[in-house]
Amino acid sequence: MDFKSQLESTLSIERIRLLHLTANEAALRGFPLYIVGGSVRDLVLGRAVNDFDLTVEGDAIALARSLASRHGGKVTAHTNFGTAKWFLPKNLKTDVEAHGTLDIVSARSEFYKHAAALPTVEMGSIDDDILRRDFTINALALRLDGPHFGEIRDDLNGMEDLQKGVVRVLHSRSFIDDPTRIYRAVRYEGRYRFKIAEDTLALIPDARSLVEKLSPQRIRHELDLLLEEPNGVSMLARLDELDLLSPIHPALSNFNQSNLATLKSDDTALQNRQSRWILWLMHLTEQEIEFVNARLHFTADLSKMLRSASLFNANRTAVAGLKPSQYVELLEGYSLRVLETIYPVLANEEIKNKISKYLSEWRHVKPKTTGHDLKKRGLKPGPKYAEILRRLRAAWLDGEVKTKEEELRMLSNLIR
Ligand code: ATP
Ligand code: MG
Repeated sequence: MDFKSQLESTLSIERIRLLHLTANEAALRGFPLYIVGGSVRDLVLGRAVNDFDLTVEGDAIALARSLASRHGGKVTAHTNFGTAKWFLPKNLKTDVEAHGTLDIVSARSEFYKHAAALPTVEMGSIDDDILRRDFTINALALRLDGPHFGEIRDDLNGMEDLQKGVVRVLHSRSFIDDPTRIYRAVRYEGRYRFKIAEDTLALIPDARSLVEKLSPQRIRHELDLLLEEPNGVSMLARLDELDLLSPIHPALSNFNQSNLATLKSDDTALQNRQSRWILWLMHLTEQEIEFVNARLHFTADLSKMLRSASLFNANRTAVAGLKPSQYVELLEGYSLRVLETIYPVLANEEIKNKISKYLSEWRHVKPKTTGHDLKKRGLKPGPKYAEILRRLRAAWLDGEVKTKEEELRMLSNLIR
């Protein structure tokens, strides 16, 4: 593969220019500079490369600072990690680089003192940096500085695995060091329709029990990333097949077919992360939701919705055969987002239609009369106000009142 042409044919002129001037600055300082990890993988696969992961064998912060002093923009840096973020000047911004920034990190090596803990990080060579990575397909490095522009480093046969479509760890302790990699493997497998290598699959059993040592944030982050993928639902099924959901929490495993069918909604509006969490977990009891929440620490927003979804699911049969005003009263007890998410997948057509009506019309119905009007009529403010307005609204919803005159007549009766 000719990477120089591949870069030049895939990337816009502005991005190539940005890479070149970064590479020139690195060359001036004598620092080898590489695109690494997912960016190289996606370049080889001919996929869109979003953010570049740039790794320099040398001081990334110094490099970013000299780029900013030559070309403009600002730099923020983490000295502990040797990482720098260059906020690009206006004339160098591209429409791709997230938030108009370029990240540069110093090559590093990592040691795992304990299984499933965060690694200890030290400055290292590009060799070290390649060896700390998760899979061979993510361990490619493409050199950019000076005459080296377009040279590939493929020490671990990542190119071959990319061509064969194989996700393979670099060494047999990989999943023990970091069990999140198991979930990453399933994500890449599903995203690119690759296969996890047999010998890599064989390493899962020894690492499975370590999943429980992962912090709530780390394991939830992996599931969040997975649910954001277009193929996310198949990836969940694959995780279950490999028995990787039960180690997170037993309530998450054993996808039954209806559960899976619900999740596999064709409705694109339901293919976002939050909807998928709701559709996935709505079948759990409220208590199970609490247990799962204790393990995964959902955001307050999501955990509220999950509770609401579970409650709805438990009570959904009690919802049939009501008057519109009764539906409204009942449905107002549930999160709007939850109802919007759940109704398209409900099997009961009546309830489905009623919720749809509630969402599009009923919830907006209001009587013409306001609290202000009641005051003008000399009624003393109090709980009676809400009761009267509620009765008027119900009359509109149930078709007992169809005009303002009819409402006023009803109001007079109510006040009397
Ligand atoms: P994506 O397209 O999902 O962002 P990516 O390959 O860019 O894929 P990132 O999570 O952005 O993935 O990480 C960037 C790179 O860092 C990866 O390509 C991989 O080489 C390395 N990496 C990330 N997470 C791990 C991990 N847990 N263990 C080892 N290496 C990792
Ligand atoms: Mg990435």
